[in-house]
Amino acid sequence: MREDGLYAALVRRGMSRRSFLQFSTAMAAALALPATYSPRIAAAVTNAPRLPVIWIRAQGCGGNTEALTRASDPTIASLMLETLSIEYHDAFLSATGASADQVRTNAMARYPNGYFAVVEGAIPTGAGGAYCLVGGRPVADVVREVCDGALATLAVGSCAFDGGAAAASGGQTGAGGVRSLVGNGKLMTLPGCPLNGENLVATLVHYITFNELPPADPMGRPLFAYGDLVHNKCERRPFFEFGEFALAWGDEGAQKGWCLYKLGCKGPETMANCPTVRYGEGVSWNVRAGHGCVGCTMPDFWDAMGTAYDRLPPVIPFLPNVTVDQIGVAMVAGIGVVAGAHAVGMGVRFKRRAVLEGRAAAAGAAAAGSAAAGSAAGPAAEPAAPAAEAGEGAAGEGADDFIAAAAAAEAAREAGDDDQLTAGIDPEVR
Ligand code: SF4
Repeated sequence: MREDGLYAALVRRGMSRRSFLQFSTAMAAALALPATYSPRIAAAVTNAPRLPVIWIRAQGCGGNTEALTRASDPTIASLMLETLSIEYHDAFLSATGASADQVRTNAMARYPNGYFAVVEGAIPTGAGGAYCLVGGRPVADVVREVCDGALATLAVGSCAFDGGAAAASGGQTGAGGVRSLVGNGKLMTLPGCPLNGENLVATLVHYITFNELPPADPMGRPLFAYGDLVHNKCERRPFFEFGEFALAWGDEGAQKGWCLYKLGCKGPETMANCPTVRYGEGVSWNVRAGHGCVGCTMPDFWDAMGTAYDRLPPVIPFLPNVTVDQIGVAMVAGIGVVAGAHAVGMGVRFKRRAVLEGRAAAAGAAAAGSAAAGSAAGPAAEPAAPAAEAGEGAAGEGADDFIAAAAAAEAAREAGDDDQLTAGIDPEVR
C-alpha cells in the first residue's frame, strides 16, 4: 500500500477494510463485470495514486458539483471522490482572478498528460464565446487547453454532454457539448441532470484497474451505465405490463406506485442505470419518489422528449423509424428482461385473480348467508336473493371476465392504443 495513495487516503477518512472489499465488489457489479474481478479492483485501487483532477465549470448551474458534495452519509464512492486530488476547481479555490488561473496552469504543468479533466456545463460559442469567460478568455479555449493535456476528459452532466438546457430551442448562446473540443478516445460523457456520482467513480475505478476508459457508445457514454433502458429496470415496470397507470398526480394509481407513463415518464426511451444505482447514497430516484423520468441522459432531451408531463411522442425523435414498443422489445429480448417482467406481471395477474375470486366467493357466501337469514326473517330480506344467485357462479365468471379484460388490455398495448389499456378492467379491481 502506498502511503500517498488513494487507499491510504480512504483509510485515513475512516474506511474499514471490510467496507472497501464490499465497495470493490459493488464496483465490479456496477461495471457489469463478474464478481471475480473484485480482487483485481481492490488490488488496483489499493496501489493507485490519488488521481489528479482539473475540474472546469462552464455554462451551467453547478448542479453536478452540488450533487457530488452534498452527501449526508457518504458512501465509499463519495469518499473516493473527496480523496481524489482535485488540483483545480473554481468553486473550492481560495485564489481568485489571475492567481486562480495560475493554479490551473501550474497543475497542468505538474502532471503533463497525467490528470483527468472534468468539464461541467455547456460550451457557448455565440458572440465569440463571450457568454462564458474564464479569466477573460472564452471557456471553450480554456477547456480545449486543459483537455489537450489530460489523460482523458470526463464531460459530466447533460450540459457538458450536448449543451443541455442552454442548447434547447430558444437558447441564445450557441451552446453545445464538450465533444467538439476533445478528440475521440479521450472523452467519456456522463450525462444526467445531475450526473450520478457513482457512475463517475465507476469510470475512474475502471481506468485505475484496466488503464483504459470503459467501453462506450458512439456518444461516449459508458455502456455499463447507459447500456440499458430505464424502463427495463424500473420497479414500476410490472404495472406498465399490466396496464396499470397513474392518470393524475395524487390519484389512487399514483398513491399505489403504478406506472407513470401516462403522466409523461420518458423511461421507455431513456438509457441510464438510475433505477439500479439511484441517487442520495442509493436511497431513491425520481420514479421511485413519484415523478416520471425526464430523459435527461438522452441527446436534446429538452426538445426531443416533449415537456416533462407530456406523454412520449409516438415516434422517437432521434430514431425516427423506431417506435417505443420496438425499442423496448429489442432491448429486452437480448437480455431476457421481458421474461422477468412478464413473470412479475403474471404474478400480479394471478394475485389479482385470487383476490377477485376471493371477493366473489366472499360475496357469494355473504349473499347466501343473507338469503338464509332472509328466509328466517321473512320478506324484509328479499333483496338478497338475486345476490345469492349471482354468488353461485361469480368466482369463475369474475375471473374469466378479468382475464378477458387483461387480454384486451394487452392487445391494446401491442396495437399502441394505450388509451384503451385500462378500458374494460373493473376499476374496483385495479
Ligand atoms: Fe417505470 Fe416510467 Fe417505464 Fe412506467 S414508463 S415502468 S414509471 S420507467
